[in-house]
Amino acid sequence: MLKVINPATAQVIRELETDNPESVAEKFQRAQLAQEIWACVPLDDRLKAIRNFRELIVQRTEELAQILTSEVGKPISQSRSELKGLLGRIDFFLENAARVLRDETVLSDPAQKLEEKITHEPLGVIGNISAWNYPYYVGSNVFIPALLAGNAVLYKPSEFAALTGLAIADLLHEAGIPDDVFIPLIGRGDVGAELCRQPIAGIFFTGSYATGQKIAEAAAKRLMKVQLELGGKDPTYVREDADVDAAAESLADGAFYNCGQSCCSVERIYVHEKVYDAFVEAFFKTVKTFVVGDPLDDKTYIGPVTRREHLAVLDRQVSDALKQGAKLLCGGKRAAGPGFYFEPTVFANVNHSMELMREETFGPLIGIQKVSSDAEAIQLMNDTEYGLTAGVYSKARERATAILAEINSGSVYWNCCDRVSPRLPWSGRGHSGVGTTLSTYGIQTFVQPKAWHLRGV
Ligand code: NAD
Repeated sequence: MLKVINPATAQVIRELETDNPESVAEKFQRAQLAQEIWACVPLDDRLKAIRNFRELIVQRTEELAQILTSEVGKPISQSRSELKGLLGRIDFFLENAARVLRDETVLSDPAQKLEEKITHEPLGVIGNISAWNYPYYVGSNVFIPALLAGNAVLYKPSEFAALTGLAIADLLHEAGIPDDVFIPLIGRGDVGAELCRQPIAGIFFTGSYATGQKIAEAAAKRLMKVQLELGGKDPTYVREDADVDAAAESLADGAFYNCGQSCCSVERIYVHEKVYDAFVEAFFKTVKTFVVGDPLDDKTYIGPVTRREHLAVLDRQVSDALKQGAKLLCGGKRAAGPGFYFEPTVFANVNHSMELMREETFGPLIGIQKVSSDAEAIQLMNDTEYGLTAGVYSKARERATAILAEINSGSVYWNCCDRVSPRLPWSGRGHSGVGTTLSTYGIQTFVQPKAWHLRGV
């Protein structure tokens, strides 16, 4: 059994039956049969089902937001925003699937009586193992284009967002996706590991680097397609020519939105020495305006962290920073209450010997480091094994983009942060992952091209 716990109260809100090796194998068999039929369903009908799903999301936003908040502790306004943001992602896939999936004749040569053509076939049954922090985003990045491309999906939501996973499955089925074409698997890591042991055509994973490594090892045994969207330690540099107040406001949001539990949360801030003090003051002022409290309250901006055990990681990063001489500006400890609350925490005078500037924090805790030049900022931003996003705040676009060109990460931001667009490829480098979702790359990844060499007589 899986106990679903409300992180704001520490109370068990539901108990769910979990899958086991037999049920996972049986679900795979069902999905395999169903996928063969689904692949023959015209694209227009698949598009129609996803359009219905979108409509159901619109109709049930409030109910779904309440479920999400109850199990992950996300402030209710941010749960609603996630559901609203989901619509834009679905629209992108609805508008672009036909263009990406259509057959393409690349050569037609009557003299040689030769035609060359590319068609796109689904991968088959794929596994989708998901994280809890944005279950609608990270799930839909995979299952929407995968279903449109004719795949069946065995979907394992995180054990911390299982109710949302089941709600997604119900909505897809109600929308017209056959029950066996999208099947949820409920459980913890052992169920995910069991899914990787099935003869699936590919595994699409969102989660931590540590689990991503295990998935890659499991996949290597069978040579299936592997896509991994993993963690980050995303840096931002505030240049001396930045609009300091605007940068501080934007970066405080980037660091603390969703309680800092975003893969692309701002996790390290470097500020030029000429504006360091002004920036730190403005940043601190903004953080002080954040309302911490009951995630069901509309006014709350910071709720509890989702996983109780993660509080120990935050404690450890705080004590390591303090031991090494960082200056604590606010927070630094767990907040009172039965829920898993941690005070919004800001450190100044940090450096790269501290864990909070090296390891993914994934919580309401940020360090601000002083630098004396663009070159030093570039060196420090690249001093990481991760490579998901990075940003520069500056009034000079050319200088900012020149800096960003030197940063080894999948996404870069000028005067913005913590941003994902369905039109742009989402990918990580190094320990941040392998493969791409979103954009047209994120549709292509769910098909295998077939090359046709056709010579007439
Ligand atoms: P996690 O790695 O603990 O779990 C992710 C999923 O993997 C869960 O469904 C879990 O049950 C499953 N799992 C655990 N062990 C497994 C195993 N051995 N085999 C198969 N499956 C297994 O990660 P999490 O706590 O859910 O998510 C947080 C992490 O996800 C952070 O590092 C965050 O940065 C990252 N993330 C990345 C992106 C991105 O787009 N790059 C997006 C969201 C979250």
